[in-house]
Order: sequence, then C-alpha cells, then structure tokens
Amino acid sequence: MNRFAIGVDIGGTATKFGIIADDGKIIRRLARDTGRDMGGFLGVLNDGICTLFDFAEDRGYNISHIGIASPGAVNIETGIILGSCPNIPFLTDVNLKAIVSCRDIKIFADNDANAACWAETVVGVGKGFENILYITIGTGVGGGIVINGKLYHGSNYGAAEIGHIIIHPGGRKCGCGNYGCMERYASVPGMIMSAKHILARRRSGKLWKIIDGDFSKLTPKLITREFNNGDIVAMEIIDKQAEALAQGVAGAINLLNPQLLIIGGAISESGRKYIKRLSKAITEKTFPASNVKLKIRRAKLGGKAGIVGAAMLGWTVAN
Ligand SMILES: [Zn+2]
Repeated sequence: MNRFAIGVDIGGTATKFGIIADDGKIIRRLARDTGRDMGGFLGVLNDGICTLFDFAEDRGYNISHIGIASPGAVNIETGIILGSCPNIPFLTDVNLKAIVSCRDIKIFADNDANAACWAETVVGVGKGFENILYITIGTGVGGGIVINGKLYHGSNYGAAEIGHIIIHPGGRKCGCGNYGCMERYASVPGMIMSAKHILARRRSGKLWKIIDGDFSKLTPKLITREFNNGDIVAMEIIDKQAEALAQGVAGAINLLNPQLLIIGGAISESGRKYIKRLSKAITEKTFPASNVKLKIRRAKLGGKAGIVGAAMLGWTVAN
C-alpha cells in the first residue's frame, strides 16, 4: 500500500507542486508563477497546495505531510532559510514551515539541491548506493552529499555548496561576493559567457554560422547540440565548462571518496558524450584511490527531482 505526500519546489520563476507516492510516482502535478513579492507568493503557495489537497481528498489519497524545497541554506529543524535566498530576495530569513496556512499538517523543508539529491538517491539513479555526490547545473551549480545513506547537511546546513569552490583566484565576480567561484564558469550563464568570448575570438565553425553574430541566440541546448555534432568551437566551449566543473568536483571527490557522482541539470541532458568528456577531466584531477571505484551517471528524474525529493524528505525522518 503506497503512502502519499505533497512536494513543493520553489524556483526563481516557477513553483512546482506534486502529489507523490512513496515509490516516487507522481500522481498529479502543477506549476504556478512564483511571483515577485511575499504577498503574491503566499497566495500562489497555498493555492497550489490546496488544489492538490482537494484532488487528493476527492480521489481518496491520504496525504501524510508536505515537503518544501527552496533555494538557499535551510535549517531543516526549524524550516528557516538562513540569510539570503538566491534569486528570490523576498524569501530571505523566511520560515518555510510557517507559511503554509491552508491545512494543518506536518511540514518538512530543505535546500532544493539536497531535495533533488535525495530523490535521485531513493528512487532515481542513486538507488542502492550509500555514498553519493550529486551536482546540478543550472543558473548556479548546486550540490548534495549522501554519506552512509543519509543526506549530509554540515554543522549549519551549509554543506555541499560546491559551486562556490574557488577555481580561478581573482577570476569572475560571483554573487556570493568572492571571485573565481566554479559556478561562474560551469553554470549555464558561466558557459554562455565563455561561449561569447570563444566565439568572438574564433569567428568560425557551425555554431558561429548559426548565431550569425547574435549572441542572444546562444542557449545550452544549441551549444550542446553542436558539441554532439562535432563543431570544433562548440567543443572548445564545452571543454572549458567541463574542465571548470571537474576542477571543483575533483576536490570534493578527493575529500569524500563517493561511490557515485550524479550529474543533473541543463548541460548533462545533452548525453553520453558530455559525461565522457567530464569523466576524463575528473579522472585526470583526482587522487587514484578516490576515483578508482567511482561511477559517474546522469541524473534520471530531470525537472521532477525537486518535488519528488521534497515529498521524500518526510519519509526519511518517519522511517
Ligand atoms: Zn561564489
């Protein structure tokens, strides 16, 4: 007999909601615009949750709890976002467990990359592995760490901030205040910035022809497609991104010695050729004993990982 929960994944532009079974199956899902202020967001959040509760009650799904995934460092005991919340300024210092008003029910909260990591661990590509490093490439580069089958949060819920490992001292300025953080090179905006520099210098190849001098046409999808097609300039762009990611990830692998590295997000979706390129860069940069048994796999759950993982947070504790 399955158990059911509601998972919520708060994003910079959209907030996703889902009724999730304990085997990871999504019964129903919906998405709403996150909005630009707290008042609007509270309406969106509670409307989304209430809509799913109504659906669940109609169909006889008994909801045991709500799980909320949010950007930023989240105190999982209190539900409070610690300091600023990237891309959603109005959520700074907000208590995620206190903003749900449409039902009186147990609420769990965690950082969005941790939730996605947990989803991959329990019902995704990480099933059966005990020690995992999870990386997701998007507007930034997020991470999650599983040690001995449990999410590792650190002493102040700030663990796995892998995107802010400095790989180029004095390099590109990062939103965290430092210079040269890995995510300024390996995230989607970081890769697009590198692509502009490389294309302006090279002025050749298929990718250059396609964009016809208009850099606003550059997307991760286009770059990875031309990388897979063998365009030499697209390969240089992906090389730079993969080297940057590998540099940050290699340090974490030397430190943690995981069995499995899961790569999720925009660029990883381009496929096997990218994972192969990344794998080579990681092997070159890691200590042999740390990487000899390491498996590298693409994330399986895609954009659903946040809502699935958020719902799963409750069962982790309940079990
Ligand atoms: Zn940074």
